[in-house]
Amino acid sequence: MAIRTIREIGDPILNKRAKEVKEMTPRMKELISDMYDTMRHANGVGLAAPQVGILKRIIVIETDEESSYTLINPVILKREGEQRGYEGCLSVPGKTGIVTRPNQVVCEALNERMERCTIEAEGLLARCICHEMDHLEGHLYTEIAEELMDNEELEESRENTESGT
Ligand code: ZN
Repeated sequence: MAIRTIREIGDPILNKRAKEVKEMTPRMKELISDMYDTMRHANGVGLAAPQVGILKRIIVIETDEESSYTLINPVILKREGEQRGYEGCLSVPGKTGIVTRPNQVVCEALNERMERCTIEAEGLLARCICHEMDHLEGHLYTEIAEELMDNEELEESRENTESGT
């Protein structure tokens, strides 16, 4: 188990485009395993490789104990509907914003065995995929959030908190 340092807003690596993964190597496997450890340790539901300082197109998502996804070189094939809701990011600690995302997405990616797979996602999972894909392009949700609040001021207007991604 290895927890890597999460890069925070202001770190230039978060504004760079990540590169495609060409092959699965022992180093890449270790990175993916560390990304899961880092995400779980930070109580996040998603993490993109640039957030741990690696410019590779790799995302891990775990919306609950039974649903974890490793997405390598992901591409969104279809976006449908709209959801407006709270969003946070492990790279933007202490903040939450309101972000509008598609409610459904169809995403194609490679898994850890470099097999092509298609994921039909909706709700939180669709939101996570869009958020993490933005990281691969060098974008943070703060660029598109309607409102950005400190978590303390948010606590007052909200009963249950969500985890960052
Ligand atoms: Zn994020």
